Amino acid sequence: MEVLKNYINGSWVESGEHQTIDVINPANQEVLGKVPYGEKTTGDVDSAVAAASEALKQWREFPVMKRVQPLYKLKQLLEENIDELGRLITLECGKSFVESKAEMQRAIENVETACATPTLMQSEFSENVATGIDEFMIRQPVGVCACIAPFNFPGMIPFWFLPYAIACGNSFIIKPSEKVPLTMMKVFELIDQLDDLPKGLINLVHGGKPSVDALLDHPEIKAVSFVGSTRVARYIYQRGTANGKRVQAQGGAKNPLIVMPDADIEITARVVADSVYGCAGQRCLAASNIIAVADTKGVIKEALVEAAKQKTTGFGLDEGIEMGPVITAESKTRIEGLIAKGIDEGATPLLDGRNAKISGYEKGNFIKPTILENVALDGEVINTEIFGPVMSLLQMDSIEKAIDFVNRNNYGNMACLFTTSGLNARMFRNQANAGNIGINIGVAAPMAQFPFSGWNDSFFGDLHGQGRHAIEFFTQTKVVIERWPKEWTRKF
Ligand code: NAD
Repeated sequence: MEVLKNYINGSWVESGEHQTIDVINPANQEVLGKVPYGEKTTGDVDSAVAAASEALKQWREFPVMKRVQPLYKLKQLLEENIDELGRLITLECGKSFVESKAEMQRAIENVETACATPTLMQSEFSENVATGIDEFMIRQPVGVCACIAPFNFPGMIPFWFLPYAIACGNSFIIKPSEKVPLTMMKVFELIDQLDDLPKGLINLVHGGKPSVDALLDHPEIKAVSFVGSTRVARYIYQRGTANGKRVQAQGGAKNPLIVMPDADIEITARVVADSVYGCAGQRCLAASNIIAVADTKGVIKEALVEAAKQKTTGFGLDEGIEMGPVITAESKTRIEGLIAKGIDEGATPLLDGRNAKISGYEKGNFIKPTILENVALDGEVINTEIFGPVMSLLQMDSIEKAIDFVNRNNYGNMACLFTTSGLNARMFRNQANAGNIGINIGVAAPMAQFPFSGWNDSFFGDLHGQGRHAIEFFTQTKVVIERWPKEWTRKF
């Protein structure tokens, strides 16, 4: 089987590293490709940075209106190829075909938003700040930028950064997750068709920790965008900033969701189940700790169990499948271990998705929807990002106690409330200690115009991905103060 190539300086090139690891379909363990993985991938990073530095000289001088033109073509190519991209995401990542295409739609929306960069980059001018003196601010590109992506959204996440970075006049390097590199290979086939880009403007390098460290240490790289687990996000932020780079590092999550007794229970249960079990729970915005408030008759609980039971599990390209496998056999073992741990800690399994058998896909990493009730508040399960299809269901008797629980969370990626009371909703959005808030929304994923706004251990940095934050991250401000005194003017 062919080893995946890098895309550097406008061409597909072999990695200098001959060691590889397999890219595996999580539904059946089929090997889909071999990806370079080892110390020598650092040489690939050096080549990509050299190409990106060269391309930058020309690109940053292009007018911004010219720099966004390739994005219009890219949007069209992504739309024309959305089925193929969706198929690849499902094959390597496991989620359902519907989810995969929805992911690509979010990527396209970021390309569309970045097409507004000529306006978004516009800046400020003050005439006569002091007598005869004008002052203005301009935004200039920061230089060579890099993105390091996680496995769970192989098509979308690089687009939180890439279109803004290049529209702002930077060059770019993407390092996809070694678990799911095939989607970006296809995206780069499309990028290769964009005639107006200088060679080397956008590059793709494969690998794991050695290539990430090479990106973090290379003096020519000025900005790093990372998305992944909190442990690695913290490391990326520390090492990147110690090397003088700007870094935005989005981390993991453990998202609480409160259901009030006044919520529309049937619809709420369906939306909550979509949040917990969509993408098999492998979403940084998956709700996982569900707090039913004053559910004295167990109405919310019963509706949640029913909604969870309705989820169809299987191979994501098969018709009608809503939930695919988790990414690796190790993940399945880890998640099943956490379910066991939760039960050891005193929880009752209302649904136990371990030992799932899917006919025709017996080797797949499947776990069916699981609900643990009364999980210990001081235990491991309630505080750990499980990243699998597991709901912890808690009962509390007031919204105040529920909000207090929400705010004890170390993460801060998302917090949600389901209610028909505007008063409760207003109090919640004001007090919740998280950066993305859902009111009667189960997956509060900001649209491309808004920052993807994680807080606390879910984010390290200042400016998030997407929208105006991305424009600010990928530009540096320059303030010019100037005067043209009449008396200094030479007569001729
Ligand atoms: P991960 O942290 O294991 O890997 C992410 C990237 O970092 C990969 O490209 C990987 O090659 C690299 N990497 C891994 N270990 C490294 C190390 N020790 N040193 C340097 N680089 C390293 O994350 P993952 O398992 O691919 O993705 C799942 C995680 O991402 C979850 O925690 C999820 O919540 C999080 N996530 C967060 C967001 C967000 O917006 N906050 C979005 C999606 C995913």
